[in-house]
Amino acid sequence: MSFSSALLDWYDANKRELPWRGEHDPYRIWLSEIMLQQTQTETVKGYYRRFLERFPNVEALADAPEETVLKLWEGLGYYSRARNLHAAAKVVAHEMNSIFPKDAAGLRKLPGIGPYAANAIASIAYNVPVPALDGNQARVLSRVLAWEPEIKTPFDLLTPALGLISKERPGDYNQALMDLGAMICLPKSPKCDVCPVSTHCKAYAGDAALDYPRKPAPIAKKEQDWTILLINVGDAMLVRRRPKGLLGGLYEFCAIEGHFSDASSLANALEERGFQNVRIIERLPDAKHVFTHLVWKMQGWRVACNAAPEGYAPVNSEALEALPFPSALRIYRNSVK
Ligand code: SF4
Repeated sequence: MSFSSALLDWYDANKRELPWRGEHDPYRIWLSEIMLQQTQTETVKGYYRRFLERFPNVEALADAPEETVLKLWEGLGYYSRARNLHAAAKVVAHEMNSIFPKDAAGLRKLPGIGPYAANAIASIAYNVPVPALDGNQARVLSRVLAWEPEIKTPFDLLTPALGLISKERPGDYNQALMDLGAMICLPKSPKCDVCPVSTHCKAYAGDAALDYPRKPAPIAKKEQDWTILLINVGDAMLVRRRPKGLLGGLYEFCAIEGHFSDASSLANALEERGFQNVRIIERLPDAKHVFTHLVWKMQGWRVACNAAPEGYAPVNSEALEALPFPSALRIYRNSVK
């Protein structure tokens, strides 16, 4: 039996029940694939359901204000995905008569759709035989093939992957490899004894599953110190919208790069920045947030002042709750009384 037949037989009997399984609507498949990038499947389920309730089709998503989309995305992280999702919905709804492109090359022209998502959507929605190569699929294939070269991107495996994919059921094949990677060929503890493709697996034959994929040395994450300031003017809290870039479009509290050793140096720094009659109320707990290549080490303070410089908006606690905020600042937002 071929590799793909063994894999598909196993998939037919063991596939995971997921809300987007069995879907052929490219809008729903696209939504699930974008959400699943860098996010655990269990977490995605609830977001996927809420998104479809609020935006049942691509027109509804395209016509929504960006802030509504970001608010619904809150907690999923990697917010450029949400902004691109919104931008791509506008292109499909307004320039393509609400019909998604039917091949991977056309899909890749949409904002936020990279080679992985394009191949996943094209294969699942339209049965195009292209491999959905992500880290998961690359791990499995690197083991099956005992792939020696260092893998810089999963698409380094494109040529052998094209040779293995089922031409009859490419969408199911891609999902089967996703499931195999999630259930059997696990990163640290592959269950080779119960693996349906073990007879095709060169790493297993060499008793070397954990030696693959060959990995480049990890890149050290850059650390940044931030002081996060919950500043009241009267009963209102000062917030501002982040510019484009990391977490762009989300809201934040006043933040100053660096840490302060005492309240008076912090008060001076704030007055230099145009805050008037600054009173430091209390120190808040420290917090840390780890991004892909960056770590924020945060020191928090509660502050009051009489007036703020331009760029800040005073909001009450109800309005604050409704604004999209990055998870990185959740500990501070939750501490607003
Ligand atoms: S035999 Fe082991 S290493 Fe090979 S694909 Fe199956 S689980 Fe992965």
